[in-house]
Amino acid sequence: PSPHAGLDPERLAAFRAREEQRFARARPVTRARLDEGAEPWLAGVPMHWMRDWPSPFPLVVHRAEKARIEDVDGIEIDDFCLGDTGSMFGHSPPPVARAIRRQARRGLTYMLPSDATLRVGALIRQVFGPMLWQMTLSATDANRHALRVARAVTGRRKVLVFNGCYHGTLEDTMVTCHQGRTVARPGLVGQVLDIAAEAICVEFNDLAAVEAALATGEVAAVLTEPVMTNSCMVLPEAGFHDGLRQLTRHHGTLLILDETHTQSSGLGGYRRVHSLSPDLYVIGKCVAGGIPTGLWGMTPEVAERFAAYDLDRPEGHSGMGTTLSGNPLQVAALEATLSEVMTAKAHDRMERGALRLAAGLEGVIARRALPWHVVRVGARVEFICAPGPLRNGAEAALAHAPEVEAALHLGLLNRGCLIAPFHNMMLVSPVTKTRQIDRLIAAFDEILSELTP
Ligand code: PMP
Repeated sequence: PSPHAGLDPERLAAFRAREEQRFARARPVTRARLDEGAEPWLAGVPMHWMRDWPSPFPLVVHRAEKARIEDVDGIEIDDFCLGDTGSMFGHSPPPVARAIRRQARRGLTYMLPSDATLRVGALIRQVFGPMLWQMTLSATDANRHALRVARAVTGRRKVLVFNGCYHGTLEDTMVTCHQGRTVARPGLVGQVLDIAAEAICVEFNDLAAVEAALATGEVAAVLTEPVMTNSCMVLPEAGFHDGLRQLTRHHGTLLILDETHTQSSGLGGYRRVHSLSPDLYVIGKCVAGGIPTGLWGMTPEVAERFAAYDLDRPEGHSGMGTTLSGNPLQVAALEATLSEVMTAKAHDRMERGALRLAAGLEGVIARRALPWHVVRVGARVEFICAPGPLRNGAEAALAHAPEVEAALHLGLLNRGCLIAPFHNMMLVSPVTKTRQIDRLIAAFDEILSELTP
């Protein structure tokens, strides 16, 4: 694939320059607020990814409600990024906002369970399966702890991950395939331990490579998303998940499924929709409606092995947990989300909206005769500026067209539509309106009409 994805590079550069000016011209208040208040933050933002948007300077948000954000210049934007899944059910769902308000009067954190904690466990099981659960503040930590348990109970060192994966800032998974070898990702800051010694990286959809790795007997766990969502989206080929389950069982390796993103698949996530049976299971981001929460669970069989391991474990730090994890504010938001927001009906609406969006974008791509494609996983839609389907992380990396994508993202933002940075991901929430979806499709069409002769 070409770096310009079939578009004329000069036309693209001119478009990007025009759009940057347009963005800045429309936002004098944003510019002034940043000038006044950004300096004390390292790189001007409280978390450095907030600079990774394609705009010349970040949006500064005044408020967000449902699937819409209003910036401090009073510009309203349809939000299809939705906090990169943290707000997949819409911003401040009313039941969650009410639960937060109620809990706010009763204490925010006490390192003890609340009444609601004892109610919500059954709900978690109803939605996500009959496992034994723990709470964290992030999906990153949920993965970290799940991997620790897998290593503990198997007595093995290595984790197998797929090339192009992302499981949060969990160091153990920060490897990539380079000329057939597993190497640490070169961009890691201050990394001194040799991660590649404890990880094996192979390509997604390559069961033969998985089998060869597991046959070494060193692999404690395969940690994977059901669908690769952190590169250009890669779907599992028919039989891949069955094969993965059979191989892991055969070689005594545990299977950890990270459903932080693929919760978009439907109620109970990809696991439930596609009847997968992992040994350990991770969810995060939107599970408590936007209050920082990760959940990780293990099957009763793994829990039994872990209890046996724990009996012999020396006293002292386990390396799992953070002080505020499982706090009553999280639990209140989690209960409200699971009981009133994350419903089958909500997922149906999301799915219908996402189908409309995907079909609309496909129509535009076909009319413009571009060699691009669209992938959808439930409420999650992505346009990819290269032909598809993609089979693995290596193909996904080649399909990525950063310059084209940045121009498109900025063009969409100037036309009132925010999509996720990093990749071309759009989420449809249960409160996203049909007219918002249609406006995104129209904006995509308008941009491509400017970019193609
Ligand atoms: N797992 C997956 C699949 C993710 O995509 C992400 C974040 N994008 C995480 C884990 C980590 O989530 P968090 O940054 O909220 O810890």
